Amino acid sequence: MPLAKETKIYKTFILSITLTIALVLSGIFLGMSIRTRQLIYEENIIRAKSLFNSIVLTRKWNAGYGGVYVEKKKGMKSSPYLENPDIETVDGKIYTKKNPALMTREISEYAEREGLFRFHITSLNPLNPDNKPDVFEKKALKLFESGKREAFGAEVINGKMHFRYMSPLSVEKNCLQCHAKQGYKVGDVRGGISVSFDIENIQNRLKTNTILIIVFAVTTTTLLLGLIYFFTARLIKRVSDARKEIEKMAITDGLTGIFNRKHLMLRFEEELKRAKRLKNDLSCIILDIDHFKSINDRYGHLVGDEVLRDIANHITQSIRIYDIFGRYGGEEFLLVLPETNFEEAKNLAERIRVAIKEKPIWNIKVTVSLGIASRHDKDESVDDIIKRADDGLYKAKNCGRDRVGCV
Ligand code: GH3
Ligand code: MG
Ligand code: MG
Repeated sequence: MPLAKETKIYKTFILSITLTIALVLSGIFLGMSIRTRQLIYEENIIRAKSLFNSIVLTRKWNAGYGGVYVEKKKGMKSSPYLENPDIETVDGKIYTKKNPALMTREISEYAEREGLFRFHITSLNPLNPDNKPDVFEKKALKLFESGKREAFGAEVINGKMHFRYMSPLSVEKNCLQCHAKQGYKVGDVRGGISVSFDIENIQNRLKTNTILIIVFAVTTTTLLLGLIYFFTARLIKRVSDARKEIEKMAITDGLTGIFNRKHLMLRFEEELKRAKRLKNDLSCIILDIDHFKSINDRYGHLVGDEVLRDIANHITQSIRIYDIFGRYGGEEFLLVLPETNFEEAKNLAERIRVAIKEKPIWNIKVTVSLGIASRHDKDESVDDIIKRADDGLYKAKNCGRDRVGCV
């Protein structure tokens, strides 16, 4: 596969995996964050409802007795909205009446002082002007008139975030003791109780939680992507190394490490084309080890292999970088020499022959025969040149080996 195409595949892979992971993790963390907010909001509603229910129960208890009397201590005021709120006992003590509305207000004041919550009993038409509705309550009361049973939300009161809840109060028989004059009938929805409590602290904790979730999401995504990049980069390197190895193996002779015949011929063709185009010299040398069979027979195949490797190494070191050298057959080698004329090729062949002869391998005296040929005219093919070199080699062999031959 071409390298550019491979790189594109890796890039697409990394991009899609990055997008997938980023999307999935953002989805998970966003979902977590939204769900936490929802749960806390639901928890606020539950808290508000239970406060509402407890005050409604207390009011019912109070209304059930038609209001309760408490001893009027010093500084205590009687309600101006009740008819005859005070009674005097035979022993001279004065008791004042606390109806559900008063009781609600007083409990609310207690709770507010403790910093807990606030109740507010109100209606669109309150007896006590202190009980007139605020903006949230007015809206809620209008909603109750259209049949809604509860209203809730959050708003800033005195610079702090508060949760607001309101539910209607239906007129019961006991209520008429005080409210009959206002034209209330049993079952009417004429007012409601609102519950407010400070949620500043929980809101702040929610903000911290959101920041933590974002930090956690970014860290997890970065870590995960880092790991994926690391392993993908390692995989790419391994695949690339393996590809290079395969490419090398495809053009290399396994025993000697020089070019194999297939690649050698391919390069020879290329060089011939180039030489023809540029009208350059091009020569080749074919080299065959003399009596190699008897070396194998005498010292064994492994030693024969070593001789082949040694000769290949030696020739590799004595040629130019742009000369092409490979294994042509069993114990035959081919050298393609660009920009080299016949004389120069002959000199090189001679040098190689002498060097091999003078350097015994494993104390074995090895000689080689060589055939040389240079390209003649423009119609000549690689096979034509090799054929002439091969004829030269044949001649060298026939003339007693250990020499350079040509035709
Ligand atoms: P000549 O001088 O006429 O070339 O004689 P030769 O013995 O070298 O030629 P011949 O063609 O009779 O034998 C070539 C031998 O090379 C036979 C074969 O076993 C051996 N040979 C071919 N490839 C390898 C190889 O990879 N390793 C080893 N050890 N021997 C090989
Ligand atoms: Mg041979
Ligand atoms: Mg031979």
